[in-house]
Amino acid sequence: MKEINRDQLLEIAASERAAKSCTECSSLSCVGWESVPSSFELNKLQPLGTLRIEGAEECWDEYHPNGTNIWSEDAPISIKHHPYNRSDICECIGCKKKFLRYTEYGGYYVDERIRELDPKLIA
Ligand SMILES: [Zn+2]
Repeated sequence: MKEINRDQLLEIAASERAAKSCTECSSLSCVGWESVPSSFELNKLQPLGTLRIEGAEECWDEYHPNGTNIWSEDAPISIKHHPYNRSDICECIGCKKKFLRYTEYGGYYVDERIRELDPKLIA
């Protein structure tokens, strides 16, 4: 998948989109990170690229200068930090709304997580 740098991410985030969620993505309510609802079909999301950098060292540090946590709706999007450094960028096939998503691998589960891409939060 195409690697996306910060400038490209800003451009994608700022690109045009419909003002409202469409019927395809209206079940996604994810201003902060959320699990993708099991009823949601991931093929409604078109991948645009990835923030993962091939061969980069793993980094599990999170970036929260203002006391947010990973679940905060206003947590900054810092592409060098977890979980953004493992995220892909995608858009809704209906309305072109942009999302970040990554897969959380727990001991006994796999959790698909998704967050709206808000240009104002890109660090
Ligand atoms: Zn949509």
